[in-house]
Amino acid sequence: MSEYKDATNAIHAGVRQTQEQENSEAIFMTSSFAYASAEEAASKFSGVEDGNVYSRFTNPTVELFEKRLANLEKGEAAIATSSGMAALMTMAYSLLSAGDRVVCSLNVFGSTIKFFNTYTTKFGIDVVYVDATDYAAWEAEIDSNTKLCFFETPSNPLYDVVDVERVAALAHSKGALLCVDNVLATPALQNPLTQGADIVMQSATKFIDGQGRSLGGALVASQEIVDEFVGFMRSAGPCMSPFNAWVLVNGLETLSLRMKAHSANAMKLAEFLESHPKVKKVNYGGLPSHKYHELAKRQQKDFGGLLSFELDGGREAAWAVINAAKLVSITGNLGDTKTLVTHPATTTHGRLTDEQKAKAGITEGLIRVSVGLEDSDDIIADFGEALAILG
Ligand SMILES: *Cc1c(COP(=O)(O)O)cnc(C)c1O
Repeated sequence: MSEYKDATNAIHAGVRQTQEQENSEAIFMTSSFAYASAEEAASKFSGVEDGNVYSRFTNPTVELFEKRLANLEKGEAAIATSSGMAALMTMAYSLLSAGDRVVCSLNVFGSTIKFFNTYTTKFGIDVVYVDATDYAAWEAEIDSNTKLCFFETPSNPLYDVVDVERVAALAHSKGALLCVDNVLATPALQNPLTQGADIVMQSATKFIDGQGRSLGGALVASQEIVDEFVGFMRSAGPCMSPFNAWVLVNGLETLSLRMKAHSANAMKLAEFLESHPKVKKVNYGGLPSHKYHELAKRQQKDFGGLLSFELDGGREAAWAVINAAKLVSITGNLGDTKTLVTHPATTTHGRLTDEQKAKAGITEGLIRVSVGLEDSDDIIADFGEALAILG
């Protein structure tokens, strides 16, 4: 499929029509597969013969999602998982052993920090955090025990942009792997694997689904690395449901169109908020005033659908504006057709300590917006009216 362009691959990559000649992809909602003989069962189970064994680790609909995502992320192979966090767990437990070190950005998804701190350190894995855009800190912390470096770019919710090539070079100089969480940009806007990353992590729950219906995750990497993940999946089982895989395959078909529309709406809202007297600061890579605008322009095809903005007046002001908005939904999810708002300090990042929040820049006056696909005039009017209650 690689001879086709991305928009074509998003619709055709990985398709395998069955003898029923369906044009829309079938859903293989089956736990297991039945064989013609005991001999065939034995050879499929042992891997002598390729084929479906059990949907914990082989399912045709899940495989279609994996092939299509690998194609769009420009990786050799992918493994689908039940959620984005299941992808992180699969990577950590497949690759890390006691005594290994992980160097992780501070500006990552709250549950990522919670997972590393609670569920990897207890197995003797050392996790240290750096400010993602402090390259001297990456260089200082990556040592010969470092097995994995991890960051998000752009980050959620502050839109810090990290130079993938630069951290990849630092990681590789000590023999470590680099994994990039590509949830906010999606493969439609950015391909970290072509910029030096070894692994891409996805939460398909977000823009890949695109309509807030189903959870899913994935890891994309070389065949050799993905084979390690498949071994873990077969034994541990954080697998994607075939039904979710089918929803997410359909999401991939329209992903690039939706990301263009999300980006255009987010840009208009960011410009409106930046010019609003009650808004202290807007974090969106598309704004020329943003600290990482130039790097985002170089590394990404567009700026995506997520922005955040800060108000004076802390939690009280932020909650008042969130409560006054009518059109938008108050929810911790992101990447939906609907515009979504959340107060990171008390929701997505609520499990972090005050010190961790301060380090990660999650202030009480910060509001995150996942800009949807409604008419931008209506989105802007809703925020305009909500901000007006601040007097
Ligand atoms: C949502 C999210 C995750 C976790 O994905 P789930 O599918 O919710 O488990 C990881 N990273 C980022 C940036 C996210 O937004």
